[in-house]
Amino acid sequence: MVSKELPSVSPRTKTNGKPVFTDTMDYVLQKKLRVWCSSPDATWKLGQIQSVSGDDVEILLVNGEVLTLSPDRLLPANPDILDGVDNLIHLSYLNEPSVLYDLQSRYSRDLIYTKAGPVLVAVNPLKEVALYGKDFISQYRKKLNDDPHVYAIADLAFNEMRRDGVNQSIIISGESGAGKTETAKIAMQYLATLGDARGMESEVLQTNAILEALGNAKTSRNDNSSRFGKLTEIHFSETGKLSGAKIQTFLLEKSRVVRRATGERSFHIFYQLCSGANPLLKKKLFLKEADYYNYLKQSACLRIDGVDDAKRFSMLVDALDIIQISKEDQMKLFSMLAAVLWLGNISFSVIDNENHVEIVSNEGLATAAKLLGCSAPQLMNALTTRKIQAGKDNIIQKLTLTQAIDARDALAKSIYAHLFDWVVEQINHSLGTGREHTWRSISILDIYGFESFIKNGFEQFCINYANERLQQHFNRHLFKLEQEEYLEDGIDWANVEFVDNADCLTLFEKKPLGLLSLLDEESTFPKATDFSFANKLKQHLRGNSAFRGEQEGAFKICHYAGEVTYDTTGFLEKNRDPLNSELIQLLSSCKSELPKYFASVMVADSQNKSTLSWHSAVDSQKQSVVTKFKAQLFKLMQQLENTTPHFIRCIQPNSKQRPMLFEHDLVSHQLKCCGVLEVVRISRAGYPTRMTHQQFAERYGCLLLRSIASQDPLSISVAVLQQFNIPPEMYQVGYTKLFLRTGQVAALENAKNRML
Ligand code: ADP
Ligand code: MG
Repeated sequence: MVSKELPSVSPRTKTNGKPVFTDTMDYVLQKKLRVWCSSPDATWKLGQIQSVSGDDVEILLVNGEVLTLSPDRLLPANPDILDGVDNLIHLSYLNEPSVLYDLQSRYSRDLIYTKAGPVLVAVNPLKEVALYGKDFISQYRKKLNDDPHVYAIADLAFNEMRRDGVNQSIIISGESGAGKTETAKIAMQYLATLGDARGMESEVLQTNAILEALGNAKTSRNDNSSRFGKLTEIHFSETGKLSGAKIQTFLLEKSRVVRRATGERSFHIFYQLCSGANPLLKKKLFLKEADYYNYLKQSACLRIDGVDDAKRFSMLVDALDIIQISKEDQMKLFSMLAAVLWLGNISFSVIDNENHVEIVSNEGLATAAKLLGCSAPQLMNALTTRKIQAGKDNIIQKLTLTQAIDARDALAKSIYAHLFDWVVEQINHSLGTGREHTWRSISILDIYGFESFIKNGFEQFCINYANERLQQHFNRHLFKLEQEEYLEDGIDWANVEFVDNADCLTLFEKKPLGLLSLLDEESTFPKATDFSFANKLKQHLRGNSAFRGEQEGAFKICHYAGEVTYDTTGFLEKNRDPLNSELIQLLSSCKSELPKYFASVMVADSQNKSTLSWHSAVDSQKQSVVTKFKAQLFKLMQQLENTTPHFIRCIQPNSKQRPMLFEHDLVSHQLKCCGVLEVVRISRAGYPTRMTHQQFAERYGCLLLRSIASQDPLSISVAVLQQFNIPPEMYQVGYTKLFLRTGQVAALENAKNRML
């Protein structure tokens, strides 16, 4: 079931083995219709056929130019009456240029939303568009506006939740910068407004401001890129009132705290704090300007065009107030952030020829210690020495320069990651106790899309693994379940091929010889290196169709969205994510409350692991990062499986973050990656309306003009279809259900209204 190509050009649909349409291109040539001409630069030009002689087709382009091409360089274009249709299933010809042209022509008129069957495609406007706010919300609520919109999807989810009593999910995916987070906020805004119960609305919406400050950063692709995945569950009471919310987060990119590419920033909150704290707070935290801190200044980017960090800081404090995070807790949060910044200013000097170090006694050490609530010597020891057990004795070993720097950075990252989790806990605590009783929920998933850069590391490996899982969920719902339903009901159905990613998932998850298991295994060998890991993969996975070994220290995975080469540098270390016991002990001996709390969480984590592992006595290591991530992901998938899903695919129109610019290659690649065209094909070729014979007979049986011999629902249904001359290619009669093509029910409803 693998089709790597775009769907075929011709809209031929088989019913009972007979094609409904005749060969499309012949027809187009014969009638001298509009066509797309492929050019060598891989773009498409629209033109009208002027004449055909043998293999030479003369075409008049829109710009007046005349081309002579052979038919294999042409694709049929849709009649102009279909220009800019709001659902791609209405296109007569579904080929790449037609779809791109449709999206582009809508985009140029600020119509950024288009349906692809049941899926909403959202092309990022990269500027303000007048499509949101109270008036629009009420239009969609009252069904006065039927243009595709996030509001319409949210409305559908809300109605289905109330009608069926089933939890819903809105799954938003797309590349970095495609607009996922904004889309998630727009959906939340709709749902919160709809179910508003005395002020809960703004509380739910303010969670975004807080999480973005802590979890978003400027990257090369997006000035406000989320560096974590997020599932926001919005809870409703039985009467449809907002009753609370719960947030789950996934895999924060904490390495950004200590390192990142030049031109990118660390998490927004650091810069906001440095420029927005009032003098009193600054004094309490011993705060300096952002460019004073190594962790911030190293990537040579402190500001974002058009963003006022100080103003954002006061918005953040407002949001914390609204969510009822106490001033005392806010102070704890800020002092941990300051501690992280000061940790980065601790430097070491080598004291002997074995590269052992001591700390250059400076304000970094003293200030970080003060903020954490420990003594400077305590912090110094934890960062420069390690206790090792030799028989019954403990020996103190000095760390080398690299080890000491790693320890310092590990401490900073760990404090930040635990702080992030702690803030999420506080938010959940505050929003968990709604005033209404919770009945059902709508979950909104905003998770990093597929990533493929020139250099890809451990983070991309995890992110792309998550995307494979999500893609499978998407496929399962939109293709497999659909096709299975047809097959189960015994109707004739030409399978729509789609890129099935089962092979790739097996490559990741197989035990013991899959990517994740091999990574975990190699991570437990003390002598293993990133190179030996790469070699191990090559040795064991060579035969797998989705895997290719590359030159030293690299490997390639064939993802559903394309091939990605990963550099194994840092894989083992990032997967182990070690925090030596000295550092945990240090945190637990701190006088401040948060470090102590973080230490207790870490200890609980490693105890969790000990019950699972047989050699827990030897390594008091916590669970590896990929193991934890996989468990989180499985839990997420299970949660999603129990909901009715609604999908939104966000598209990045260009690589320059500029409005009004539509790059065909880039968009086309994204459409392929997220399976949009296949969805359209299946929806259009299929029978989107289905009713049991019983339902159909009950609804339309009364319209029968003549009585029929047999009164069973199936016979009644067939008699109705015949009486209204519904053409046989417009429906199929299954064992239990009747399957109807788009538009047929509307026709019957009209007839019913006229007759009754
Ligand atoms: P992602 O989460 O997919 O990485 P974002 O949601 O952060 O992308 O969007 C990136 C940027 O694109 C936003 O900061 C905003 O400037 C712009 N943007 C996205 N969606 C919209 C929208 N619906 N209207 C206006 N601007 C948008
Ligand atoms: Mg985002």
